[in-house]
Amino acid sequence: GGATGTDEGATEATTAESTDAGGDTGAAAEGTIGVSMPTQTSERWIADGNAVKKGFEDLGYKVDLQFANDDIPTQSQQIDQMITSGVKLLVIGAIDGTALSGQLEAAAQAGIPVIAYDRLIRDSENVDFYVTFDNYKVGVQQATSLLVGLGVLNEDGSENADAKGPFNVELFAGSLDDNNAHFFWGGAIDTLQPYIDSGVIVVPSGQTTIEKAATLRWQQETAQKRMEDLLTSTYSGGDKVDGVLSPYDGISRGIITALQNAGYGTTIADGLPIVTGQDAEIASVKLIRDGVQFATIFKDTRKLANQAVVSGTAFLKGETPEANDTETYDNGVKVVPSYLLESDIVYAGNIQELLIDSGYWTEEQVASGV
Ligand code: BGC
Repeated sequence: GGATGTDEGATEATTAESTDAGGDTGAAAEGTIGVSMPTQTSERWIADGNAVKKGFEDLGYKVDLQFANDDIPTQSQQIDQMITSGVKLLVIGAIDGTALSGQLEAAAQAGIPVIAYDRLIRDSENVDFYVTFDNYKVGVQQATSLLVGLGVLNEDGSENADAKGPFNVELFAGSLDDNNAHFFWGGAIDTLQPYIDSGVIVVPSGQTTIEKAATLRWQQETAQKRMEDLLTSTYSGGDKVDGVLSPYDGISRGIITALQNAGYGTTIADGLPIVTGQDAEIASVKLIRDGVQFATIFKDTRKLANQAVVSGTAFLKGETPEANDTETYDNGVKVVPSYLLESDIVYAGNIQELLIDSGYWTEEQVASGV
């Protein structure tokens, strides 16, 4: 799927720029590229890692691909080893965006360019480039899908004049050490705020700060536990949850399990609240198809991997990669030149078009959820 279909997908997703990456590499590419990904517990990072690896291998490079088990010392050690072994380029999806300055300092001293992959690396001047999605917009899309699910907005984003309300909504955020979590939250809250101010949306728990809403390491179990706690603390008097802002599909599934266990019904049609998501993980795509999860955000990891290869190849040729954003991603020390990709909201009605027709998942995978 996102994982198994990656190879084909990477080719399909090939853009004009990627032709450049491969096109004029007449001389055999030499050397090893270090690719450090945060974890294998979420399928997207496996797909990302494999696609970046294949992209560089197709150009003739060797690739040292490591996953760090969501453990910061493991990731630091893996990157140290890559630097010691003389990699030509580092592509890093950080676990904790602030924990790698030592490694990046060593990379800079060894003349190794560093590309932050998907997640910004903070507090270091030695981040040379950033490839990612428009993370603020992902947050806007998450909140938009929630508003659509509640009937406040129509699918085209226009206001629904017949919207009912007020709606009881609870808010979840990602891991605070991941810079992206703050962008997703910012985009989502900016989108929801007018409806909170007008009383269309109410957050009965009062937990409206990112610190309260956060989910360490984006873990499903942690989110399930917080949802259970919210149901006990805030909803035991008979109030009902209407919607939950969730920033990631794993978190969404934890929230859904808590709600189902509390008797909310198994599908939206029989009373389950509107729950959003991110990543179009196959288990969640099936839940969307089956009317259990309402929506997710599709970020085509094949395109991101391709972009990492394109940008990395520029460095390897001694050139400067092309950025399409040089303002947004201030890492605390400098604004890191970035290449941002676009994402899409997935609803039951466009799974076919966005995910199956594009080859990201097969029809069989969507039907089985694996
Ligand atoms: C990524 C998301 C992902 C999350 C959890 C974020 O940094 O941008 O796509 O859902 O990490 O893995």
